[in-house]
Amino acid sequence: MGRSVSWVMDYSSRPGDTLDRVGGVPTHLPYMWPRCQACQGRMSFVGQLYSSERLLLDDHLALQFYVCDDCRENRKWLHMEALPKASPANDRRTGVRCGSQPVQYIHYTRVEDSMDQWTFHRRRLAEGDLPDKHLRRDKLGGLFPYDGYEGPKISRQNQMVAQFVWPGVGAAVYLYRSAKDGFYPYPYS
Ligand SMILES: [Zn+2]
Repeated sequence: MGRSVSWVMDYSSRPGDTLDRVGGVPTHLPYMWPRCQACQGRMSFVGQLYSSERLLLDDHLALQFYVCDDCRENRKWLHMEALPKASPANDRRTGVRCGSQPVQYIHYTRVEDSMDQWTFHRRRLAEGDLPDKHLRRDKLGGLFPYDGYEGPKISRQNQMVAQFVWPGVGAAVYLYRSAKDGFYPYPYS
């Protein structure tokens, strides 16, 4: 039986041992800086997650998340950028910062879940049946026990791989990985 592991996130002003971070400008640059679909303005960088054992991105270097600071009153636009491995380093530290996202470095703690996603489904359990205290934390990987509440159904072809609440976005982001469509953030795609 494979172990189900959650990588719980903590945020700190002190750099961690990964490049994962919220706020500031991105460490690597996308091919084109994203523009808002509504106002066409340059979007603001909110955060970045790099490929690692915690989040396997295959042929991608990192996922980056952007919002439009100008349009956020009307609707939260969240844009996800999947960076190719060859993306250039942002040596000149260019880019648009998000006004509501302080710079914080992400630190990870490995926590073993009491069971894996598929055992949880098979036994038809509810979140309250579990002893785990970490399942509502910001995290990568592991068990996500609130399938069916809302949002896309979790299956082997459509796995949830992360959840986080970042001030720059202002609400929870659930990151899925679909066998058909790749990574996508819910409810923003
Ligand atoms: Zn906009």
